[in-house]
Amino acid sequence: MDQDFKRRLIGAMADAVIAHAEELTALDSAIGDGDHGLNMKRGFEAVLAEADTIAAKPLPDALKAIGMALVMKVGGASGPLYGTLAMGLGKALPAEPTAAEAAMALARAIEDVKARGKSDAGQKTMLDVLIPVQAAFAANGDDLATRLPAVAAQAADATVPMKAIRGRASFLGERSIGHMDPGARSSSLLVQAICSVFNEA
Ligand code: ADP
Ligand code: MG
Repeated sequence: MDQDFKRRLIGAMADAVIAHAEELTALDSAIGDGDHGLNMKRGFEAVLAEADTIAAKPLPDALKAIGMALVMKVGGASGPLYGTLAMGLGKALPAEPTAAEAAMALARAIEDVKARGKSDAGQKTMLDVLIPVQAAFAANGDDLATRLPAVAAQAADATVPMKAIRGRASFLGERSIGHMDPGARSSSLLVQAICSVFNEA
C-alpha cells in the first residue's frame, strides 16, 4: 500500500465525516447530546491536518497515529472507541495485508472495542455496523468494495428499531427506538469512504 493510496484513504474518510457532520449531529440530538457530528469532524480535521505525515508511515504505524489523534480529538464515548479500533487495527495488521489478514485484523480490533466499551452486537452502537461488515469481509468473495457499503448501510438502518443498551442513548430506554444510532451511521460512512477508494483503484 503506497503513500498516495493511504493519503487518499485518509482524505476520503475525513471528507465523508466532515460532509455529514450535521446529519450525525441531528442523529445524536434525537437520542444523545447532539455532539457526535462535531466530535467526529474535529477528530478527522486533526487527522487531515497530519495526513501527509501519517500517510508516509507504514500502514500499522499510520493506523496507530490515526487512533491516537482520534482518542485525543474526538472526545465523547466515540473518540476512545474509534481510537481503540484504529489502534487495534494498527497492532493486528501487517504492513501489506491480504484481504484475509485485513478481515482477521478487523475482527481483533472489534474485540478491543467491545472490551473497551463493555458492549456487543445488538446494543444499538457502532458495533452493529462494524460486526456485520467484518463478517461480510471475512466471507470474502467478489466485489467486496461494492458489497460492503451496502452491508454497512443496511446494518446502520437496522439500528433504527433497536433499543439502546450502551452509551448515552441507553438513558432513553424505549424512547431510543425509532432512531438510527449516530455511531452506526458514522461507521457506515467510514466503510463507504474506504470502499470508494478501493473501487477507484
Ligand atoms: P457521547 O455519547 O459521549 O456524546 P458521541 O456522541 O461522540 O459520544 O458518540 C456516540 C456513539 O458512540 C453512539 O452512537 C454509539 O454508536 C457509540 N457508543 C457509545 N457507547 C458505546 C459503547 N459502550 N460501545 C460501543 N459504542 C458506543
Ligand atoms: Mg454525543
